[in-house]
Amino acid sequence: MTEQIEGNVPVVTCDVVVVGGGIAGISAALEARELGAEVVLLEKAPKAERGGNTRFSDAQFRLPHEADEYAPISTTREGMVADILRVTHDRANPALIDILVADAREAVDWLSELGVEWETGFPHTATYRRRPQGGGLGVLNNLYARAEEIGVQFRYATPARSLIQDDSGRVAGVRALGPDGFVDLLASGGVILASGGFQANVEMRARYLGGWAEGLIVRGSRFNTGECLRAARRAMGRLPLGTDRRELPACRRWRDGDLHLSARHHRQRSGRAVPE
Ligand SMILES: Cc1cc2nc3c(=O)[nH]c(=O)nc-3n(C[C@H](O)[C@H](O)[C@H](O)COP(=O)(O)OP(=O)(O)OC[C@H]3O[C@@H](n4cnc5c(N)ncnc54)[C@H](O)[C@@H]3O)c2cc1C
Repeated sequence: MTEQIEGNVPVVTCDVVVVGGGIAGISAALEARELGAEVVLLEKAPKAERGGNTRFSDAQFRLPHEADEYAPISTTREGMVADILRVTHDRANPALIDILVADAREAVDWLSELGVEWETGFPHTATYRRRPQGGGLGVLNNLYARAEEIGVQFRYATPARSLIQDDSGRVAGVRALGPDGFVDLLASGGVILASGGFQANVEMRARYLGGWAEGLIVRGSRFNTGECLRAARRAMGRLPLGTDRRELPACRRWRDGDLHLSARHHRQRSGRAVPE
């Protein structure tokens, strides 16, 4: 890893830059570091608030598994696929379901190897699932401890602001704004955007989900405001998969207004009042 000043801006050169320190980002950083890469992880939040929505999550994991001391009901691969299709009204992306279901067990084993422990006797009986001790924060604490141990470099309170592209348009790095000002991070091996969604950005909620989403009370991280999705759109010329509501895997056939109708549908099914 090198650092030099070009113009007024420090330039850090490394192998991989990971943007975002929730479960996706810290997992990617760990894996890249384990493979020998020099990794810098940029986290927008200060250290005390790191971890995005993962930090707030109960982090229950569904996976195909036989009943055991952790959960009282068995779930097969086919059963898990069928369940996802059922709750998404057959709108979920089959390719993504296959990856999720095929890798779920390995992901849980990987977390266990990293020291995550699971509560026994989970009371839920719908499908097999596990709850990590300490919820999402407990998982993060394990992963951060391991990442610090093996030398992932962290920069807290340092949001990525834009992507740096070379002459061919390839993303070569990230410009970020840290406590001491702007810093450019060049990554020879790639930039991994794991900066979550845009639930804490009222304007983006209204734009991409619809006016009904403007006043939502959000339970997750206040740092997930979608600027990296916008940076990716500028670089790619389109929104990444899953950001445009017409591309969301679970609602790719939804048309304008359908999201609202779906919310009404669920309220009706659950017997709750349906506002007009
Ligand atoms: C209350 C609650 C309960 C949940 N319960 C469950 C559950 O039981 N089971 C389950 O599977 N899922 C659950 N979820 C969903 C789950 O938490 C998320 O799907 C998951 O945590 C997303 O992980 P992530 O790493 O993609 O994003 P996040 O964890 O949101 O991480 C995104 C990170 O990016 C950072 N960031 C944002 N912008 C920038 C930027 N410009 N530069 C640098 N960093 C940036 C943020 O600070 C954050 O650290 C729950 C969510 C909530 C809110």
